[in-house]
Amino acid sequence: MAETMTRRGGCQCGKVAFEVESDLEGLIECNCSHCYRKGLVLKFVPASAFRLMQGEGELSEHTFNQHRIKHRFCRTCGVQSFAEGQSPDGQTMMAINVRTLADVEPWDWTAERVDGRSF
Ligand SMILES: [Zn+2]
Repeated sequence: MAETMTRRGGCQCGKVAFEVESDLEGLIECNCSHCYRKGLVLKFVPASAFRLMQGEGELSEHTFNQHRIKHRFCRTCGVQSFAEGQSPDGQTMMAINVRTLADVEPWDWTAERVDGRSF
């Protein structure tokens, strides 16, 4: 799972598709009001490792709290493939929803639980 490779992913209906250059280390599950409800399993990567292949016009966006993270989801099927935000040092980061990666078997990963609810 440590191997860095090009992985493809996207929403359920197929309108949104992306590629990401990443391993599957350091995955997190968060218990905040947003991530927990969506069941997100996240991998953070620099924006340079991410390419949206199709679906820019199909994406809707949700922000909350301090509105620093753009949670982007397909307006047709509702699936959130990724979010976009800033790291503390100002770098643009993508939070990939590992559940939307095509080449990852369900449950074939482990994620650390992060207590986002208490932040
Ligand atoms: Zn969709």
